Amino acid sequence: MSLALIIPDRKLDDLQQRLSQALPDTRVEIWPDITDPAAVEFAVVWKQPPGSVAALPNLKAIQCFGAGVDAILADPTLPALPIARIVDPALTQTMVRYLDGVLSYYRLRLDLFKQQQQQAVWQPKSPRRIAHICVLGLGELGAAAANYFAALGYQVSGWARTAKQLAGVQCYSGDAGLAPAVAQADVVICLLPLTPATDSLLDGPFFSRLKAGAIFINVARGAIVDDEALLAALNNGQLQGACLDVFRQEPLPAQHPFWQQPNILITPHVSAVTNVSTVVAQIADNYRRSQTGEAMANLVNLNKGY
Ligand code: NAP
Repeated sequence: MSLALIIPDRKLDDLQQRLSQALPDTRVEIWPDITDPAAVEFAVVWKQPPGSVAALPNLKAIQCFGAGVDAILADPTLPALPIARIVDPALTQTMVRYLDGVLSYYRLRLDLFKQQQQQAVWQPKSPRRIAHICVLGLGELGAAAANYFAALGYQVSGWARTAKQLAGVQCYSGDAGLAPAVAQADVVICLLPLTPATDSLLDGPFFSRLKAGAIFINVARGAIVDDEALLAALNNGQLQGACLDVFRQEPLPAQHPFWQQPNILITPHVSAVTNVSTVVAQIADNYRRSQTGEAMANLVNLNKGY
């Protein structure tokens, strides 16, 4: 009986050691160094090479190593197995802190002052007026962000697939709810999952519906946004700035026009990175559940894709 870590882009010694301590009777191995693929019953997975999960014939369950499962589901060879994802209050707090920092960056006009510094320009300006924030996606992360900004006194609207009630947040849902949700927003934050329904959802018509001069923040997935439409909206003044943490292709290719766009702030997918120390317990718990036949916690609805 063994557990495989299929997470190609990360150093895994710490995770392997902590999971081995939590599950002393289980062999924890790092893909591709799997002693016996037939002995693997549980896999912790993130951006797996296609076919790597299908090569484990006796796998019972998959634990995604992050909150979003789009990369796992993109593997056409993926076996039909239950998938759990990470829901971690520490991860949520990290995301909210990142968004709070980005909001301060724009409110204090640090984008403008950085440009002025490069030209040795001394020109004081009072903070930007940011009164209304819209959060697209009101799940674990989106609801936490919406609640946080509402508690700070911002006007907050939010949009989800199904109707929601959040104190201090004007909630909209369904296709018809998107336009009114964003209409008055000075800042729009994307915290939607990437699914067939949200792929390229934020396109030219979407950006044209925003308030002129709005600021857009994407911390969800790059493919939810139409890159060309975003650049057009930044160039024609529909948007005055965009902060992007996620991209269609990561790392963002050196020749991508986003790098050269003066009103884009780029961060390299760091807004809420899974913290090994805070998620080991839930991974070990899901492993035990999969062994006893109990449903895993934080199961993904495979029909919805998130
Ligand atoms: P979640 O709990 O699954 O919430 C997703 C929200 O999006 C739900 O409110 C859902 O509506 C809504 N939604 C889904 N499809 C929709 C659609 N077609 N139209 C309107 N609303 C839709 O997800 P989460 O944990 O908050 O995470 C959100 C995403 O953030 C993840 O999928 C991941 O891609 C991204 N993320 C990024 C980072 C990073 O470091 N940049 C870190 C963690 C997560 P319902 O509530 O009605 O179902």
